[in-house]
Amino acid sequence: MTDPCVRQWQDIAPADAVDTDLEFDMTITAPLNEGGERCPWPWEPQQLVGAPLGQYHCGYCGAMVIAGVPHIDYRELGRASA
Ligand SMILES: [Zn+2]
Repeated sequence: MTDPCVRQWQDIAPADAVDTDLEFDMTITAPLNEGGERCPWPWEPQQLVGAPLGQYHCGYCGAMVIAGVPHIDYRELGRASA
């Protein structure tokens, strides 16, 4: 069930998402963390290109993500509980 009015969060640039909170904004998709919760602001990991962090916990939803790579969606991995 895909609503054509819903935008993909990946299609939105971080600079355009400053005032966005995906935990409540259902007009935009959001990746899920391991607990099946929507990430409020998933644009952080992809901006850390070159950061020597590797894997770290997203500061917004706590999901394990990878610096320099778009936020992982645990729903796609089949590991989210919701
Ligand atoms: Zn997150």
